Amino acid sequence: MLDPRTFVCNRKCGECCIKFIVKLSKSDINAIKKEGYSEEDFVALDESLPEPTKFVLRKKANGRCVFLLKNKKGVYSCKIYDARPNVCKKYPFLKNKVDSCKPVMFKDLHR
Ligand code: SF4
Repeated sequence: MLDPRTFVCNRKCGECCIKFIVKLSKSDINAIKKEGYSEEDFVALDESLPEPTKFVLRKKANGRCVFLLKNKKGVYSCKIYDARPNVCKKYPFLKNKVDSCKPVMFKDLHR
């Protein structure tokens, strides 16, 4: 079973950053602004969401998070990793998870 204390994303498939709608709290927004981005760069409004927040991470036209990077080998990474929103920090330990997300357990990496 995956353990939040030892979890590392080893596949870097980027599926969560493509398929998930990431809700933003005020502190998430402030943390990203400290990285030098303005709200217009990354905040979108989703009126269909219930309170307390209707703010979500902006997606590109292709459906990918605006902060998602892909290198030439097809490996994804997050441009604002240290300042990423709380939802991203908790993933995949959330109620919902992307079906294709099948990370290897940390202990399996050391066998
Ligand atoms: S902020 Fe980073 S971790 Fe969160 S969805 Fe975007 S690319 Fe993925």
